[in-house]
Amino acid sequence: MPDRRPNIIFIMSDDHAAHAMSCYGSVVNETPQMDRIAEEGVRLDNCFCTNSICTPSRASILTGKYSHLNGVFTLHDGIDGRQMTAPKLLQDAGYQTAIFGKWHLGHGGIHDPTGFDRWCVLPGQGLYHDPEMFDQGEKKTFEGYATDIITDLSLEWMDGRDPDRPFFLMTHHKAPHRPWEPDEKHMDMFTDPIPEPPTFWDDYSNRSNAAQQARMRVGRDFRPVDYKHEPPEGLSEDEFKRWAYQRYMQDYLRCVASVDDNTGRMLDYLDEEGLTEDTLVIYTSDQGFFLGDHGWYDKRFMYEESLRMPFVARYPREIPAGSTNSDIILNTDFAPMFLDYAGLETPAQMQGRSFRANMAGQTPEDWRESFYYRYFMHQDPSHNAYAHYGVRTDRYKLIFYYEEEPGPQEWELFDLQEDPMEMNSVYDDPDYADVVAELKEELLRLRSELGDQTNPWPADM
Ligand code: CA
Repeated sequence: MPDRRPNIIFIMSDDHAAHAMSCYGSVVNETPQMDRIAEEGVRLDNCFCTNSICTPSRASILTGKYSHLNGVFTLHDGIDGRQMTAPKLLQDAGYQTAIFGKWHLGHGGIHDPTGFDRWCVLPGQGLYHDPEMFDQGEKKTFEGYATDIITDLSLEWMDGRDPDRPFFLMTHHKAPHRPWEPDEKHMDMFTDPIPEPPTFWDDYSNRSNAAQQARMRVGRDFRPVDYKHEPPEGLSEDEFKRWAYQRYMQDYLRCVASVDDNTGRMLDYLDEEGLTEDTLVIYTSDQGFFLGDHGWYDKRFMYEESLRMPFVARYPREIPAGSTNSDIILNTDFAPMFLDYAGLETPAQMQGRSFRANMAGQTPEDWRESFYYRYFMHQDPSHNAYAHYGVRTDRYKLIFYYEEEPGPQEWELFDLQEDPMEMNSVYDDPDYADVVAELKEELLRLRSELGDQTNPWPADM
C-alpha cells in the first residue's frame, strides 16, 4: 500500500523580510513565485522568531525548543546534533530526508547535520559565487550562483528519490544575507529609486538607549563591501545614507528575485512530476530584517520588522487556497508541525505546538495569545544590539533590555494599535501602568512555563 503521508518541502531563505514580498504588500518589489504559494495556500500574518538571528532560529526550527534549551544562543554556538530534532524523527518514521544550502550550526563532530539521508551544506555563511560546500562532510567547490546551485541539488535529489516513500526536503538559501551579492541575470533590476520606509529618519527619541546605541544604521555602519560602489564625492551624512540605502536595497532585492525564480523552479517541478497535491510546500525565512526601517539594516531587535517571519504554505488537500491566518505562530512550532503532517505526536520535550489545524482554517480554541522572545548576543560589538527579552501580545509589546551585569536595565512598551511603527515607548506613561503590570506578570509566567530562569532579572520586578 502506498504511503499517503505528504511530502514536505521547506524552502527557507536567510534574512528575507516579509515586507519584501508582494503577497505581504511590499512596496519595493514583486515576488510572483512566492505569491503563488500564498494564492494557492495560506499566508501567516503573525509568524514570529523567538530569537531573531540566523543560527539560533535554525536551531529552534530543528528542535522545537527555545535557545536556552537547545543550547544555541548566538551566532557562535554550534548545535549539538545528538539532541532530538524533527528530521531525525521523520527519518525514523520512514521519510526520506535531505538538506541543501545554508546550515550555519557548526561543522565537524557533533555539529554536522544529523537526521538527513543526504546533506550538502555551505560552511558558515558560505559564498554567493562558486561556493565550497560540505557534501556529506567532503569539501567540494560548485561553480555558479549559490541560489541556483542549492535549487539544482534539491531538484536532483527529488529526482533520485524512492517514489513509494514520502520525503522531507530542506532547501536553505544563503540569499539574501549580507553582503547582498546578486547574480548576473538580476543585476539590471531595480534601477529606479526604491522608496524609503516611513521610519527611515527615526532619531530614536522616546525610546530606550538601546535603539540609539545599536550599530546597524544604513550608511554610517556599512562596510564598503555592503555598498560595493565608490560613493559620489562631497555627500553630506544624510545624502550618503540615502545613497547607501539605494545600493543596499537594490542588491538585496536582486538577491530576493533569484530566490523567487528558484522557488518557481521547485513549484514547476512538482507540477511536472504530478506531486503538487501530495506535497506541503513552505516558503519562509529564518527571521525578518530591517529594510531601512528605523534607519537600520540587520535584525536582532524585538521590533516588528525583524521579529516577523514571512511564512506561506501550500497543501491543496488541506489548506484553503488564498487564505490568511493571524494566530501567533512561532519558529519553535515548525518541528511539531512537520511531525504532525507525518502522523507523529509532538514529543514532550519540544516547546512548540503544531499549527497544522491553524493552516487548515481551524484554530484550536486554546491557542496562545502571547509569546516570549529573547536575544542574547550583546557581546557582538559590530552591531552593538543590547541583549533583551520580552513579551508580545496581539496589541502590546513589552521589552526588557540589559547589558551584561551590572549594566543598565531599561524597558520599552509599545501599543501596536496606536503606534504600529514602534516610534514611541509608553512604558513611563501613567495611562499604561496597568498594562505594564499585566505584561510583567505575563512575562514571568512565560519565563517560568518555558523554563528560562537565567539571569539577569529586572531590578524592579
Ligand atoms: Ca538570518
